[in-house]
Amino acid sequence: MLILCLGLTSLTLLLQRELERRAQAERAALDANKALAELAATDGLTGLPNRRHFDAVFDGLQRQAERTGENLSLLLIDADQFKRYNDTYGHLAGDEVLRTIARCLKRQVSGPDEVACRIGGEEFGVLLLGPAGREVAFRAEHIRQAVARTQIPHSGQEGGFITVSIGVACLTLGSGVTQTECFAAADAALYEAKRRGRNRVIAQLGQSGGITDRSCSARSDSRLRSKPKAQR
Ligand code: GH3
Ligand code: MG
Ligand code: MG
Repeated sequence: MLILCLGLTSLTLLLQRELERRAQAERAALDANKALAELAATDGLTGLPNRRHFDAVFDGLQRQAERTGENLSLLLIDADQFKRYNDTYGHLAGDEVLRTIARCLKRQVSGPDEVACRIGGEEFGVLLLGPAGREVAFRAEHIRQAVARTQIPHSGQEGGFITVSIGVACLTLGSGVTQTECFAAADAALYEAKRRGRNRVIAQLGQSGGITDRSCSARSDSRLRSKPKAQR
Protein backbone atom coordinates (compact mmCIF):
# COMPACT_ATOMS: atom_id res chain seq x y z
CA MET A 1 0.00 0.00 0.00
CA LEU A 2 2.84 2.35 0.99
CA ILE A 3 4.64 1.77 -2.31
CA LEU A 4 1.36 2.32 -4.22
CA CYS A 5 0.72 5.60 -2.35
CA LEU A 6 4.27 6.82 -2.98
CA GLY A 7 3.93 5.92 -6.67
CA LEU A 8 0.62 7.82 -6.99
CA THR A 9 2.03 10.89 -5.24
CA SER A 10 5.06 10.97 -7.54
CA LEU A 11 2.83 10.59 -10.59
CA THR A 12 0.61 13.46 -9.39
CA LEU A 13 3.65 15.68 -8.84
CA LEU A 14 5.00 14.82 -12.29
CA LEU A 15 1.63 15.58 -13.89
CA GLN A 16 1.37 18.89 -12.04
CA ARG A 17 4.87 19.91 -13.15
CA GLU A 18 4.05 19.01 -16.76
CA LEU A 19 0.81 21.07 -16.66
CA GLU A 20 2.70 24.07 -15.25
CA ARG A 21 5.35 23.73 -17.97
CA ARG A 22 2.68 23.69 -20.68
CA ALA A 23 0.86 26.70 -19.22
CA GLN A 24 4.16 28.60 -19.15
CA ALA A 25 4.91 27.68 -22.77
CA GLU A 26 1.41 28.81 -23.79
CA ARG A 27 1.88 32.16 -22.05
CA ALA A 28 5.26 32.64 -23.77
CA ALA A 29 3.69 31.80 -27.16
CA LEU A 30 0.86 34.30 -26.56
CA ASP A 31 3.37 37.02 -25.57
CA ALA A 32 5.48 36.28 -28.66
CA ASN A 33 2.37 36.46 -30.88
CA LYS A 34 1.38 39.79 -29.34
CA ALA A 35 4.90 41.18 -29.87
CA LEU A 36 4.86 39.94 -33.47
CA ALA A 37 1.45 41.53 -34.12
CA GLU A 38 2.72 44.84 -32.68
CA LEU A 39 5.83 44.63 -34.83
CA ALA A 40 3.75 43.96 -37.95
CA ALA A 41 1.65 47.06 -37.20
CA THR A 42 4.57 49.40 -36.46
CA ASP A 43 6.80 51.43 -38.75
CA GLY A 44 10.40 50.47 -37.98
CA LEU A 45 11.94 53.92 -38.50
CA THR A 46 9.56 56.13 -36.53
CA GLY A 47 7.79 53.73 -34.15
CA LEU A 48 4.44 55.06 -35.38
CA PRO A 49 1.70 52.69 -36.53
CA ASN A 50 2.16 51.74 -40.18
CA ARG A 51 -0.28 52.05 -43.07
CA ARG A 52 -1.78 48.59 -42.49
CA HIS A 53 -2.66 49.47 -38.89
CA PHE A 54 -3.91 52.89 -40.00
CA ASP A 55 -6.35 51.29 -42.46
CA ALA A 56 -7.69 49.00 -39.73
CA VAL A 57 -8.16 51.94 -37.34
CA PHE A 58 -9.80 53.92 -40.17
CA ASP A 59 -12.39 51.11 -40.56
CA GLY A 60 -13.09 51.08 -36.82
CA LEU A 61 -13.37 54.86 -36.48
CA GLN A 62 -15.59 55.07 -39.56
CA ARG A 63 -18.01 52.55 -38.02
CA GLN A 64 -17.94 54.54 -34.79
CA ALA A 65 -18.58 57.78 -36.68
CA GLU A 66 -21.57 56.19 -38.43
CA ARG A 67 -22.98 55.07 -35.05
CA THR A 68 -22.45 58.33 -33.18
CA GLY A 69 -22.81 60.85 -36.00
CA GLU A 70 -19.43 62.37 -35.16
CA ASN A 71 -17.16 63.86 -37.76
CA LEU A 72 -14.11 61.88 -38.93
CA SER A 73 -11.21 63.78 -40.48
CA LEU A 74 -8.15 62.64 -42.38
CA LEU A 75 -4.98 64.73 -42.41
CA LEU A 76 -2.26 63.90 -44.94
CA ILE A 77 1.05 65.41 -43.85
CA ASP A 78 4.03 65.57 -46.21
CA ALA A 79 7.54 66.87 -45.51
CA ASP A 80 8.42 69.73 -47.85
CA GLN A 81 11.32 69.52 -50.30
CA PHE A 82 12.54 66.36 -48.60
CA LYS A 83 14.48 65.06 -51.56
CA ARG A 84 16.54 68.25 -51.45
CA TYR A 85 17.05 67.70 -47.70
CA ASN A 86 18.45 64.22 -48.31
CA ASP A 87 20.60 65.49 -51.14
CA THR A 88 22.05 68.26 -48.95
CA TYR A 89 22.34 66.70 -45.49
CA GLY A 90 22.35 62.96 -46.25
CA HIS A 91 19.86 60.14 -45.92
CA LEU A 92 20.66 59.43 -42.25
CA ALA A 93 19.93 63.04 -41.30
CA GLY A 94 16.70 62.68 -43.32
CA ASP A 95 15.77 59.64 -41.25
CA GLU A 96 16.29 61.66 -38.07
CA VAL A 97 13.98 64.38 -39.41
CA LEU A 98 11.28 61.76 -40.05
CA ARG A 99 11.66 60.60 -36.43
CA THR A 100 11.34 64.19 -35.23
CA ILE A 101 8.16 64.74 -37.27
CA ALA A 102 6.80 61.48 -35.84
CA ARG A 103 7.50 62.73 -32.28
CA CYS A 104 5.59 65.95 -33.07
CA LEU A 105 2.63 63.90 -34.29
CA LYS A 106 2.69 61.64 -31.22
CA ARG A 107 2.44 64.72 -29.02
CA GLN A 108 -0.43 66.17 -31.06
CA VAL A 109 -2.76 63.14 -31.09
CA SER A 110 -4.20 61.49 -28.01
CA GLY A 111 -6.85 59.04 -26.87
CA PRO A 112 -8.55 56.15 -28.65
CA ASP A 113 -10.33 58.45 -31.14
CA GLU A 114 -7.13 59.77 -32.68
CA VAL A 115 -4.27 58.07 -34.46
CA ALA A 116 -1.13 59.12 -36.31
CA CYS A 117 0.79 56.85 -38.65
CA ARG A 118 3.57 56.85 -41.22
CA ILE A 119 1.85 56.21 -44.51
CA GLY A 120 5.14 55.76 -46.32
CA GLY A 121 8.23 57.71 -47.35
CA GLU A 122 8.02 61.26 -46.00
CA GLU A 123 4.22 61.14 -45.73
CA PHE A 124 2.19 60.76 -42.53
CA GLY A 125 -1.52 60.42 -41.80
CA VAL A 126 -3.67 61.49 -38.86
CA LEU A 127 -7.29 60.53 -38.13
CA LEU A 128 -9.37 62.64 -35.76
CA LEU A 129 -12.81 61.51 -34.63
CA GLY A 130 -14.94 64.28 -33.13
CA PRO A 131 -13.61 67.70 -34.14
CA ALA A 132 -15.48 69.26 -37.03
CA GLY A 133 -15.26 72.28 -39.32
CA ARG A 134 -12.71 74.91 -38.39
CA GLU A 135 -11.60 72.95 -35.32
CA VAL A 136 -10.11 70.30 -37.62
CA ALA A 137 -8.23 72.94 -39.58
CA PHE A 138 -6.92 74.40 -36.30
CA ARG A 139 -5.68 70.98 -35.18
CA ALA A 140 -3.89 70.57 -38.51
CA GLU A 141 -2.42 74.05 -38.13
CA HIS A 142 -1.12 73.12 -34.65
CA ILE A 143 0.65 70.12 -36.18
CA ARG A 144 2.17 72.28 -38.90
CA GLN A 145 3.40 74.78 -36.31
CA ALA A 146 4.78 72.03 -34.04
CA VAL A 147 7.00 70.83 -36.90
CA ALA A 148 8.01 74.42 -37.77
CA ARG A 149 9.00 75.00 -34.11
CA THR A 150 11.60 72.23 -34.28
CA GLN A 151 13.64 74.67 -36.41
CA ILE A 152 15.64 71.99 -38.19
CA PRO A 153 17.76 73.84 -40.76
CA HIS A 154 16.83 73.11 -44.39
CA SER A 155 18.56 75.38 -46.86
CA GLY A 156 16.44 74.02 -49.73
CA GLN A 157 13.10 75.14 -48.26
CA GLU A 158 11.80 78.71 -48.19
CA GLY A 159 12.33 80.07 -44.69
CA GLY A 160 15.36 77.82 -44.15
CA PHE A 161 13.74 75.22 -41.89
CA ILE A 162 12.02 71.85 -42.18
CA THR A 163 8.28 72.28 -42.78
CA VAL A 164 5.28 70.17 -43.69
CA SER A 165 2.27 70.70 -45.92
CA ILE A 166 -1.07 69.26 -44.79
CA GLY A 167 -4.18 68.30 -46.76
CA VAL A 168 -7.39 67.75 -44.79
CA ALA A 169 -10.63 66.00 -45.77
CA CYS A 170 -13.65 64.89 -43.74
CA LEU A 171 -16.03 61.94 -43.70
CA THR A 172 -19.28 63.55 -42.56
CA LEU A 173 -22.33 61.43 -41.69
CA GLY A 174 -24.68 61.09 -44.64
CA SER A 175 -22.21 62.54 -47.12
CA GLY A 176 -21.79 59.10 -48.72
CA VAL A 177 -18.04 59.67 -49.02
CA THR A 178 -15.97 56.47 -48.99
CA GLN A 179 -12.51 56.05 -47.45
CA THR A 180 -10.96 56.02 -50.92
CA GLU A 181 -12.73 59.27 -51.82
CA CYS A 182 -11.65 60.75 -48.48
CA PHE A 183 -8.01 59.86 -49.24
CA ALA A 184 -8.37 61.34 -52.72
CA ALA A 185 -9.85 64.57 -51.31
CA ALA A 186 -7.09 64.89 -48.67
CA ASP A 187 -4.50 64.16 -51.35
CA ALA A 188 -5.98 66.84 -53.61
CA ALA A 189 -5.88 69.31 -50.70
CA LEU A 190 -2.24 68.36 -50.03
CA TYR A 191 -1.41 68.86 -53.69
CA GLU A 192 -3.04 72.29 -53.52
CA ALA A 193 -0.97 73.12 -50.39
CA LYS A 194 2.18 72.24 -52.33
CA ARG A 195 1.02 74.23 -55.33
CA ARG A 196 0.35 77.32 -53.23
CA GLY A 197 3.90 77.31 -51.86
CA ARG A 198 4.11 74.52 -49.20
CA ASN A 199 4.29 74.94 -45.39
CA ARG A 200 0.52 75.34 -45.09
CA VAL A 201 -2.75 73.57 -44.36
CA ILE A 202 -5.43 73.22 -46.99
CA ALA A 203 -8.72 71.83 -45.73
CA GLN A 204 -11.62 70.52 -47.78
CA LEU A 205 -14.14 70.84 -44.98
CA GLY A 206 -17.60 70.91 -46.53
CA GLN A 207 -19.48 68.47 -48.73
CA SER A 208 -19.22 71.13 -51.38
CA GLY A 209 -15.47 70.49 -51.29
CA GLY A 210 -14.71 74.12 -50.49
CA ILE A 211 -11.07 74.79 -49.83
CA THR A 212 -9.86 76.65 -46.75
CA ASP A 213 -6.28 77.83 -46.65
CA ARG A 214 -5.49 77.84 -42.95
CA SER A 215 -2.16 79.47 -43.21
CA CYS A 216 0.39 81.08 -45.35
CA SER A 217 2.72 80.97 -42.52
CA ALA A 218 6.19 82.22 -43.19
CA ARG A 219 5.25 85.33 -41.21
CA SER A 220 3.55 83.55 -38.27
CA ASP A 221 6.48 81.11 -38.09
CA SER A 222 8.96 83.96 -37.84
CA ARG A 223 6.87 85.30 -34.94
CA LEU A 224 7.15 81.86 -33.32
CA ARG A 225 10.88 81.88 -33.85
CA SER A 226 11.34 85.30 -32.28
CA LYS A 227 9.64 84.16 -29.04
CA PRO A 228 11.85 82.64 -26.36
CA LYS A 229 11.38 78.85 -26.29
CA ALA A 230 9.89 78.92 -22.76
CA GLN A 231 6.92 80.98 -23.96
CA ARG A 232 6.00 78.64 -26.82
P1 GH3 B 1 7.48 68.02 -51.99
O1 GH3 B 1 7.71 69.24 -51.16
O2 GH3 B 1 6.78 68.35 -53.29
O3 GH3 B 1 6.80 66.93 -51.25
O4 GH3 B 1 8.92 67.52 -52.44
P2 GH3 B 1 9.70 66.25 -51.89
O5 GH3 B 1 11.11 66.39 -52.32
O6 GH3 B 1 9.46 66.13 -50.42
O7 GH3 B 1 8.97 65.07 -52.59
P3 GH3 B 1 9.54 63.91 -53.52
O8 GH3 B 1 8.40 62.95 -53.69
O9 GH3 B 1 10.15 64.48 -54.75
O10 GH3 B 1 10.69 63.23 -52.68
C1 GH3 B 1 10.45 62.51 -51.53
C2 GH3 B 1 11.78 62.19 -50.91
O11 GH3 B 1 11.61 61.50 -49.67
C3 GH3 B 1 12.61 61.28 -51.78
C4 GH3 B 1 13.05 60.15 -50.88
O12 GH3 B 1 14.41 59.92 -50.96
C5 GH3 B 1 12.71 60.67 -49.49
N1 GH3 B 1 12.39 59.58 -48.58
C6 GH3 B 1 11.37 58.70 -48.64
N2 GH3 B 1 11.44 57.81 -47.63
C7 GH3 B 1 12.53 58.14 -46.89
C8 GH3 B 1 13.14 57.59 -45.71
O13 GH3 B 1 12.68 56.62 -45.11
N3 GH3 B 1 14.25 58.21 -45.25
C9 GH3 B 1 14.80 59.31 -45.88
N4 GH3 B 1 15.89 59.86 -45.36
N5 GH3 B 1 14.26 59.83 -47.00
C10 GH3 B 1 13.15 59.26 -47.50
MG1 MG C 1 7.49 65.75 -49.69
MG1 MG D 1 5.48 62.80 -50.66
